Amino acid sequence: MGAARTVLKTTVGIVGGGPAGLMLSHLLASAGIDNIVVEKRDHEAIRTTHRAGILEHGSVRMLTEGGVSNRVLTHGHRHDGIDLRFGGVSHRLDFQDLVGESVWLYPQNEVFVDLAAARDRDGGDVRYAVSGTEVLDLLTGTPKIRFTDADGAEFEIHCEILVGADGSQGVCRRSIPAEHRRDNFIEYPFAWFGILTEAPPSAPELIYANSDRGFALISQRSDTVQRMYFQADPTEDPDAWTEDQIWNELQQRVDGPDGFELKRGPIFEKTLLKFRSYVCEPLRYGNLFLAGDAGHTVPPTGAKGLNLALADVRVLFEAIESFCAGNGAGLLDGYSDRALERVWRAQNFSYWMTSMLHTRTDASDFERKRALGELAGVVASRHGSAYLAEAYTGWPGNP
Ligand SMILES: Cc1cc2nc3c(=O)[nH]c(=O)nc-3n(C[C@H](O)[C@H](O)[C@H](O)COP(=O)(O)OP(=O)(O)OC[C@H]3O[C@@H](n4cnc5c(N)ncnc54)[C@H](O)[C@@H]3O)c2cc1C
Repeated sequence: MGAARTVLKTTVGIVGGGPAGLMLSHLLASAGIDNIVVEKRDHEAIRTTHRAGILEHGSVRMLTEGGVSNRVLTHGHRHDGIDLRFGGVSHRLDFQDLVGESVWLYPQNEVFVDLAAARDRDGGDVRYAVSGTEVLDLLTGTPKIRFTDADGAEFEIHCEILVGADGSQGVCRRSIPAEHRRDNFIEYPFAWFGILTEAPPSAPELIYANSDRGFALISQRSDTVQRMYFQADPTEDPDAWTEDQIWNELQQRVDGPDGFELKRGPIFEKTLLKFRSYVCEPLRYGNLFLAGDAGHTVPPTGAKGLNLALADVRVLFEAIESFCAGNGAGLLDGYSDRALERVWRAQNFSYWMTSMLHTRTDASDFERKRALGELAGVVASRHGSAYLAEAYTGWPGNP
């Protein structure tokens, strides 16, 4: 260790400046609780990474009522339903009618812009573009974060509570000894081939399409940029596909007697998103608490990843606030169990949506027809539709 390492003292040290880390930092600061965030990417790299896009009503309330920003209401789009499309026919699920709630189409980049601006505005201490992050002394009363800042200066943060909000590839979870955590995970035999295209929206709301050729999701970003995905093999190379091949594949997955046609435009981003369901249990080791993707990941079909990260933060914030107010560690001790209750519900929902909507390449006739029977059961039954609508828009209350 260099003698020049500078020690910083704070109450809560947060690794990761994604939605979970920045939202927690904002809430803590609003409650007068000192915290420092370290983030390995620079502001621009995070702002330009395209990821999630659907916010539950509870996530929207966190941004607006939590004092981050109202931009989600002015720049986002409220969606009151989705289409489930199978056998070439669309069936709208009307969320307002079914459960009296909506979701908002508001890209994760914009969530980041709002959160980062709120931290700037309120004088928050967020160190971007750090390297060499390490967490240590997790079982002591003073856990620590070591990092090198963007200028090459070395730091050590001494805190009382350390939060790992560093996503699925971060260092915090990996710092928990294997014998002190249970890794629950499954992999899926498919991935999403995703595109961003400069085109007008093909539909006013998201279309989740099931077809013999596999799943497709027709979603939107803005009036001029659209996001679409289709189920692909996890080994697919997106660069091997021409624009025409991509559009033809997408179109075939939504073809139907109604003549629905996608609005095409130039494709400016192609990605392959591999699926995995993962839960770390417990979400705690000593004074390290995991939140968001650092503790769990879901396949994107249920649009739960970002929302679940914010739901963790709601629970963790309450626990830290109670601890800092001198009410003891009771809520901190209960954090993992409480957060995991919602996590497992969301895991089930994401798994269910994924398995119901995707088509296995080796599916037998029986399996294919059973899957269509399942979809028909959901849209034909008010109870089935309401289950999906409630889970998709977000279960009420805290976990
Ligand atoms: C390509 C893609 C598409 C997705 N699409 C959807 C979708 O459509 N719907 C949906 O609901 N979810 C989607 N997700 C998931 C969603 O984006 C995540 O669930 C969400 O970002 C979780 O937020 P988080 O703050 O927990 O983690 P992250 O957003 O991953 O933030 C973690 C942060 O920690 C930083 N970090 C990592 N390691 C270190 C380190 N050593 N030191 C310092 N900082 C570090 C990272 O740079 C990152 O900024 C998608 C994810 C990906 C990757």
